[in-house]
Amino acid sequence: TKWVYSFGGAANEGGAGMRDLLGGKGANLAEMAAIGLPVPPGFTITTEVCTRFYENGRAYPEDLRAQVEAALAGVEAALGLRFGDPAAPLLVSVRSGARVSMPGMMDTVLNLGLNDETVAGLAAASGDARFAWDSYRRFIQMYGSVVLGVSHHRFEDLIEETKRATGVQDDTKLTDQDWQEVVTGYKEIVLRETGAPFPTDPHAQLWGAIGAVFGSWMNPRAHTYRRLHDIPADWGTAVNVQAMVFGNMGADCATGVCFTRDPSTGENVFYGEYLINAQGEDVVAGIRTPQPMSQARAHDGELSMERALPEAYRELLAVRDILERHYRDMQDIEFTVQNNRLYMLQTRTGKRTAAAALRIAIAMAEEGLITHEEAIRRVPPSSLDQLLHPTLDPDAPRTMLSRGLPASPGAAAGAIVFSAEDVEIRAARGEDVILVRIETSPEDVHGMHAARGVLTTRGGMTSHAAVVARGMGRVCVAGAGGIHVDYRARTLSVGATVLHEGDWITLDGATGEVFAGRVATIEPTLSGDFSTLMGWADSVRRMKVRANAETPDDARTARHFGAEGIGLCRTEHMFFAPDRIGFMRQMIMAGDAAARIRAIDALLPFQREDFKALFRIMAGLPVTIRLLDPPLHEFLPHGEAELAELAAALGESPEAVAARRAALSEANPMLGHRGCRLGLTYPELYAMQARAIIEAAIAVSAESGQPVVPEIMIPLVGMDSELRRTRATVEQAAAEALEAAGVSLDFSIGTMIELPRAALTADRIAQDADFFSFGTNDLTQTTFGLSRDDSGTFMPFYLEHDLIPRDPFISIDQEGVGQLVAMGAERGRRTRPGLKLGVCGEHGGDPASIGFFESVGLDYVSCSPFRVPIARLAAAQAAL
Ligand code: PEP
Ligand code: MG
Repeated sequence: TKWVYSFGGAANEGGAGMRDLLGGKGANLAEMAAIGLPVPPGFTITTEVCTRFYENGRAYPEDLRAQVEAALAGVEAALGLRFGDPAAPLLVSVRSGARVSMPGMMDTVLNLGLNDETVAGLAAASGDARFAWDSYRRFIQMYGSVVLGVSHHRFEDLIEETKRATGVQDDTKLTDQDWQEVVTGYKEIVLRETGAPFPTDPHAQLWGAIGAVFGSWMNPRAHTYRRLHDIPADWGTAVNVQAMVFGNMGADCATGVCFTRDPSTGENVFYGEYLINAQGEDVVAGIRTPQPMSQARAHDGELSMERALPEAYRELLAVRDILERHYRDMQDIEFTVQNNRLYMLQTRTGKRTAAAALRIAIAMAEEGLITHEEAIRRVPPSSLDQLLHPTLDPDAPRTMLSRGLPASPGAAAGAIVFSAEDVEIRAARGEDVILVRIETSPEDVHGMHAARGVLTTRGGMTSHAAVVARGMGRVCVAGAGGIHVDYRARTLSVGATVLHEGDWITLDGATGEVFAGRVATIEPTLSGDFSTLMGWADSVRRMKVRANAETPDDARTARHFGAEGIGLCRTEHMFFAPDRIGFMRQMIMAGDAAARIRAIDALLPFQREDFKALFRIMAGLPVTIRLLDPPLHEFLPHGEAELAELAAALGESPEAVAARRAALSEANPMLGHRGCRLGLTYPELYAMQARAIIEAAIAVSAESGQPVVPEIMIPLVGMDSELRRTRATVEQAAAEALEAAGVSLDFSIGTMIELPRAALTADRIAQDADFFSFGTNDLTQTTFGLSRDDSGTFMPFYLEHDLIPRDPFISIDQEGVGQLVAMGAERGRRTRPGLKLGVCGEHGGDPASIGFFESVGLDYVSCSPFRVPIARLAAAQAAL
């Protein structure tokens, strides 16, 4: 087997396509050499060796040694130097290089090959003894810490001591004599700390470094990183051994790190830093201040590379162009200049902010470097969140208080307020407030709307607070279990820290972090690039994207973001406004049918107006309206005063009303009297809603001259019998409304598939359904037997311990819940080919889930208005 691939010299055996075998760094070094860029010669030991190493109890393949020797000989020949030669020594760097760049592993050992003899050769070759001894001590320091495990501080302390003893301030003032003494001291440190002398044989040094790279693949930090980023352990790392070039051999030498475009804005400018007379780690170490690349970016007192090393700079500009045209993406590069000659040490696809990703994708497509499809693929859909919401100013100081779930993105700061009523009062005065609750309920919706953000200490990613906040585009951190809320004392505490009502906090809904005080935020700006990308995405996607919306505001936001209809209008949110909650309560608490019908009749005009408003805004786009779903007790008054008010309205005693409220409470409301069960037991309720929908559709069709085609949706159906009967109720009410108006109108009646039994019997249910909409929130809850509202307390444990790869309320569990969706879709369409299928659970806005919905052939996804752009892009990527 071939274990070693040479690059940059007489033989160049790898290329960018061999990333799996050679790791990212090795593959790209070979690629750069292949396209004629100046790369110091070297070789890559493959990732397969790493895998074998661990399979065979940390032993190398037998013929590895011979292959490494041969490759090393090739490097020697290319440069006319010899490893270990006291007169003209070859020195090398040794670096790790996995398929994807991976912090946590051994990084770099430079200047390998130095010992008491070769240091003299280096001094002679460079004509600079100080440089040679400085290089030697750097080597012992790096090798000592990363290969031999000696604490960094031991070495640093000695330098400090030497500086004190010699009375100099700056490392650069130490002489070759001083460094020589430091080297002696370093060797003593190594002997004392490891019990063995520092290895002097360059070959022993090399194998020590190779072993350290492979060994670091399994260290705890690397392991953690792999787990967090889903990198399989059997990928392994490669080892790159490369001839040294020196950026620290004088004023015509330098080293630097650059991006081919600005990684924070995406602007097409050369961006980076360099240091004259320095070695790679100096740029990152922060001991000296790196200088700008171009003169245009240089401030007073700074020395640009363009000025200092004009020739090498021009060459680097050419390399930048070549690399971008070759890789067709923004690159992150490392280079060294030795005696005015440029050498490339690394190139890789550069990391970038969301804004830069967008800018670069569009610009590169417009420059003809990439196709529209590639541009679509280049922007991570979830990164659009950063572009649509305010974010924390990265430079702003902050004090972290605690952390919860990143329930709704954006950043917001405000005064702590503990009740929805107080939020409304303070917000009306123009104050910025954050609503802090243990959990929220539909009663809090108005307060949530008026707040800048919402913080709850209980509940998961589909808890009430999370779903509602996302829908409104409010920042939300949910289930921050480390925070204790005391409503009575009006305090919020984390350990010994106690904050009072009115104190400021800041939420980062993208990370779930909660900060004490006010952290500055940055407002988003939507560029023309954004709509360009959306346009390209729309032209390739198959699935439609709708929004979950019930208020006119939400509907307008949804349209603004390009929603192609409403996929879920949750009518329950329409019953909480102050002018209707009273009738709703009377309806629920009515002692007899007559009283109930009176209350329901009073609600009808409100509903009709609500629907008219939605139909007008949606202007002929499909609108799916779901009939009442939640358990009724959610609407009941909690306080005594409200209870008395309700009793008076009903003409009953408060005791009687309290007794009925108690009777309505359920042990398991999510599995109780809700969904179509309400419509079956109170058919007048569903009939009223159906009538309001049809009347509204008639009215808006007439006034706009554009037919409104409402879709009426029955929730929580588990059996075909339930749907058949509720459907009959709806049909009859619709027929009556149409007859009374003397017109005809198209409408459809469908159901949610949100219970396992509905998915299993979808073929039967489809007999009475014009469409299905998968309610994956409840479907996840009921398939796992996992409460949407309580999972926040233990889901973090599951995630931390790898019991589950992702929170199933965020990203659909394809293995389990996904099977039910696929089955429901397939069985439904077996009965009714062409049955319209959508999804309206929170997963409708999750890119990974959207990929899955594409694969099972759904017609549309529906998500919170602010997620519509994300869904449009994700649906496009799924279709490519
Ligand atoms: C669902 O269950 O997925 C759904 C969309 O309905 P809700 O979240 O209102 O229960
Ligand atoms: Mg549901």
